[in-house]
Amino acid sequence: MLPCATDLLRWYDRHRRILPWRALPGQKIDPYRVWLSEIMLQQTTVTAVMPYFERFLAAFPDVTALARAPQDRVMALWAGLGYYARARNLHACAQAVAARGGVFPDTVEGLLELPGIGAYTAAAIAAIAFGRPVVPVDGNVERVTSRLFALTDPLPAARKAIAARAVTLNADAQAKARPSDFAQALFDLGAGICTPRSPACVLCPWREACAGHAQGIAATLPRRAPKPVRPVRHGVHFCLVDEAGGLLLVRRPEKGLLGGMMGLPGPHWRDDPWPEAEALSLAPAAPRLQPHWRMVGQVKHVFTHFTLLVDVYAARIAAFPNSMAAAGCVHYPGDAAVALPSLMDKCVKVARKAGIF
Ligand code: SF4
Repeated sequence: MLPCATDLLRWYDRHRRILPWRALPGQKIDPYRVWLSEIMLQQTTVTAVMPYFERFLAAFPDVTALARAPQDRVMALWAGLGYYARARNLHACAQAVAARGGVFPDTVEGLLELPGIGAYTAAAIAAIAFGRPVVPVDGNVERVTSRLFALTDPLPAARKAIAARAVTLNADAQAKARPSDFAQALFDLGAGICTPRSPACVLCPWREACAGHAQGIAATLPRRAPKPVRPVRHGVHFCLVDEAGGLLLVRRPEKGLLGGMMGLPGPHWRDDPWPEAEALSLAPAAPRLQPHWRMVGQVKHVFTHFTLLVDVYAARIAAFPNSMAAAGCVHYPGDAAVALPSLMDKCVKVARKAGIF
């Protein structure tokens, strides 16, 4: 049995979350805000996104302003949100939309043609910003659906089957009459009531229709196949500073993790640990520069597909040679254009804690 859309919408009208990218009842929906929030929310929580969203909106009030901004500025404002390829795609997408006169496509198909917009994001923007009657299936909606229909096959294999049921949730006329609210109501139900560990079924507008609740298995759904163990990789990064507080940075290659971001110099990350002699043979060098390196600690950083252990070596010299400063690879405190990804920030903090600067 399908749950009743009217019950959910009535609940949403009373309990909807107030979010900076959401239009209040009667307000015009801004597709730019919807798109920006959806890109930021991928793999991240609402709480983590809020300050970034506010900062982006203050710096780039519309899609044309974002399109015109230098990529370094966009990356700097994004730093800390992770998944940096998304920031580059965000910028490319803004440029594509600016080239269309600043107007976003208003269909799922049109949105899918833009950089960085996949099936979920296209459905979310189409439903929320343009009132298209589609159900965007994110983790919240997946969880609610698996419980409503007591779907016990484990993820990730069951993902397609769960999504196929989820897209039927808006089958009734009330849901189709308010697609934007219906999609957001599903998100809010998943985020606030049908929560991962302890769903508050007693408060749920869909309790009567929920098979997971009726069978007493709601909190165990969706089931998940055991995760494969995350492999460990090893890196080395060098933190070289001078008496004036200058820090040697390099731009990482465009392709790969943290692509295009500024970072501490160091060799590629690999499966085997780096013995000290080998690591130091790859330390940054320049004429008349003879830093006395010492290992100041190890940083652990968890990426989606592996855990990275970084040996941090640090040294302080009197002053960087002019050639390095002129090449723009020495950065000083307060340099607004430079923001380090959190892995690099952790490495710098380890060096700082060791008293290097
Ligand atoms: S009744 Fe409980 S398990 Fe079912 S949808 Fe509502 S909160 Fe989730």
